[in-house]
Amino acid sequence: HAPRDFRALLETSRFHGDKIFLTYEDEHITYEEHFRRAATLARRLADEYGVVKGDRVAIAMRNYPEWVIAFSATLAIGAIAVPLNAWWTPQELEYGLSDSGATVLIADGERAARLTGLSPALIVTRGEVPEGARAFEDVMGEVEADVTLPPVDLSPEDPATIFYTSGTTGRPKGALGSHRNVGQSPMTVAYGMYRGAARAGRDPGETAGQRRVTLLTVPLFHVTGCFAVMTTTMFSGSGLVLMYKWDAGRALELIEREKITGLTGVPTNVWQLLSHPDLDKHDISSLNALGYGGAPAPPKLLERITEQLPSRAPSNGYGMTETTALAINNAGIDYLAKPDSIGLPMAVVEVKIADPLGDELPVGAVGELCLRGPNVILGYWNRPEATAETFVGGWLHTGDLARVDSEGFVFIVDRAKDMVIRGGENVYCAEVEAALFEHPAVDDAAVIGIPHDELGEEVGAVVRLSSPATAEELQAFLRERIAPFKVPVRFWVRDTELPRNPGGKILKTHLRREVLGS
Ligand code: ATP
Ligand code: MG
Repeated sequence: HAPRDFRALLETSRFHGDKIFLTYEDEHITYEEHFRRAATLARRLADEYGVVKGDRVAIAMRNYPEWVIAFSATLAIGAIAVPLNAWWTPQELEYGLSDSGATVLIADGERAARLTGLSPALIVTRGEVPEGARAFEDVMGEVEADVTLPPVDLSPEDPATIFYTSGTTGRPKGALGSHRNVGQSPMTVAYGMYRGAARAGRDPGETAGQRRVTLLTVPLFHVTGCFAVMTTTMFSGSGLVLMYKWDAGRALELIEREKITGLTGVPTNVWQLLSHPDLDKHDISSLNALGYGGAPAPPKLLERITEQLPSRAPSNGYGMTETTALAINNAGIDYLAKPDSIGLPMAVVEVKIADPLGDELPVGAVGELCLRGPNVILGYWNRPEATAETFVGGWLHTGDLARVDSEGFVFIVDRAKDMVIRGGENVYCAEVEAALFEHPAVDDAAVIGIPHDELGEEVGAVVRLSSPATAEELQAFLRERIAPFKVPVRFWVRDTELPRNPGGKILKTHLRREVLGS
């Protein structure tokens, strides 16, 4: 059974006692210490800030231990945690604060300095404390050894979190998650791990005699970091190593120093790790599991993992903010047989491929991927229309186009909104990108629509090359693989990395503006 709420998960984690939970640089926090600090902060929020069940407490910081403590304290008293994107500009932070109606903000010094206008009661850690705010340690005061959580009446359907979606298809929406969503997250991830191990004929508990330690390569303010990694670690009693920000060279050092056994990130993290010039200089033999997801993985990634780190178990996971992270994954032997598939749904997840009316399509047909289960969130915060559009009859409409084969394997075809419509003909950007990736000189690619008077849109591509290639060469290469109308008529070559958000997704709106000026 899944813990019925986050409080139950947190209370269980206290039994892990003296084991190290969080490591940041040379700071170590045991499970007992984490519990005490979280319970202390929970009491302060309730007693000194008047936070009651249903109130919103925003968190805006890098991956510091205080992030986890603030999250735990907030949920433990039935308040709703609102993790804000640490990359956000002052305007975006203000948007998150006013949209959620947070009454307390727990921030690091860098974020606090970005807040210009009105802000809720401010608690600041790691940095300068602006006038009118209080220091985190000062609010905490003395942490008692026998501290307990303040009483609160919680039910699994109570809201627990508001995570903002990446905003790749519009303004970020506040995804309202319940305690049931949060509570089931470790079970769902464990199910994926166990199934993967079983299918690959491995022992799921095996870590070569070492304690399981995970390196967190992604931000905690996205669901991958929070639910695919953090809550799962907390429940299992293993270790979590935090980084201020992702850096492949630093990650290699940490894998060696902390004897990291696994990491789960976005595809970009794994790609950069494998491409790092120091890869061979570090002893990374402890690493036995490589997970990635949350964004489409370049097809060459799997090849590179199997080539460069053959004994590691790769796993591609599909998930959304609206599914509390993991919903479908391909851990196990499946990735070799069906490299393009994101795999099979988790135990709690039901899948339906639907036509535009929401009716189920037959096996093999491409339609909208719809998901149902206890990991699907309650809806969008304060957005009744978007909620009604996206959550229909218990089904979450993902906005992704997919097909399912006769064995139940799911294949993502593209995002419904990431399509170029050329003279009425749909061109899936992902398909063209995949064909481009097959070219040996192409390191990264993004396909975009170019406005065209007659056709509505034409196909264009922005590429990053490892060796020179002309547009004519790339077009000839593509013509052997995809229909002529899908072949980009224009190419832009970039010397630098394509712009991606912290979730690993290419910022196409940004790119389009850059190359087209619109
Ligand atoms: P917004 O909804 O605000 O436009 P977003 O959808 O990018 O933002 P997220 O919830 O972070 O915000 O991302 C979910 C999306 O990421 C999915 O709908 C899907 O398109 C993509 N995705 C996630 N995992 C995978 C994967 N393993 N393979 C391919 N695509 C993936
Ligand atoms: Mg989305």
